[in-house]
Amino acid sequence: MPSSRAALATEAPDFAARQALALLAHRRLCAEYGAPFLFFSTKDPLSELISALLSHRTKNADSHRAYQQLRATFPTWEDVRDAPTLDVQRAISACTWPEQKAPRIQAVLREVSRRCGDENLPPCSLDFLADRPIAEARAWLESISGVGPKTSAATLLFSKLRLPAMPVDSHHHRVAQRLGLIGPKVGEGPAHALLSALLPPDWTAQQVYDHHEALMFHGQKCCYYHQPACARCVMLEVCPVGQERQGAPGAG
Ligand code: SF4
Repeated sequence: MPSSRAALATEAPDFAARQALALLAHRRLCAEYGAPFLFFSTKDPLSELISALLSHRTKNADSHRAYQQLRATFPTWEDVRDAPTLDVQRAISACTWPEQKAPRIQAVLREVSRRCGDENLPPCSLDFLADRPIAEARAWLESISGVGPKTSAATLLFSKLRLPAMPVDSHHHRVAQRLGLIGPKVGEGPAHALLSALLPPDWTAQQVYDHHEALMFHGQKCCYYHQPACARCVMLEVCPVGQERQGAPGAG
């Protein structure tokens, strides 16, 4: 999402160099991990929003199970919204922190209903977001309490809307930080605007998805949290952390 922070970042003296590095990482990591990648979801945007809320700090398999169980227990999102919170909590017990996520999901569904015109009617489809500029669609989602930049981007990109908004998960964030695409103190939330600003504005949803997936795969398969495998990394010669580690005794 464009922000004053991202706008300022484009004026930084090293912006062009970081932009070139982001594109180099895109080319090399997409080749390394076999892009183009298949989209894994065809959910409508409201379902994707709930799925994204469930997935916070949860393994994919666990959040998938929680989502399936939620859908099996409650036929509609209106049913989820109006159910006793404890029942929702039980249905999503496969994910982390169900006691926090259940009331949050219900609050998000109530807010969507309210914005659709009546908090007692079923929450509306979020398909209308497809007709808005990405920044506006993201701002609409992020103004709902409990919805941050990763959730808004996941809703727009992973759902059937397929809009070019880029999520940044912990793997993507770690790789970007080690490569120097963002500074060492930039957290996951602010990284969204800064990393998106490095990508060509006319990129398609598939290109944005490939970029995110390629950096995420790299974090999962090579640039590990502990002991990154720098010696076999395709980004080694341009990575400051890799160069420093290669010079250190016992680095690999
Ligand atoms: S060189 Fe090492 S630190 Fe840098 S991206 Fe590759 S694995 Fe990560």
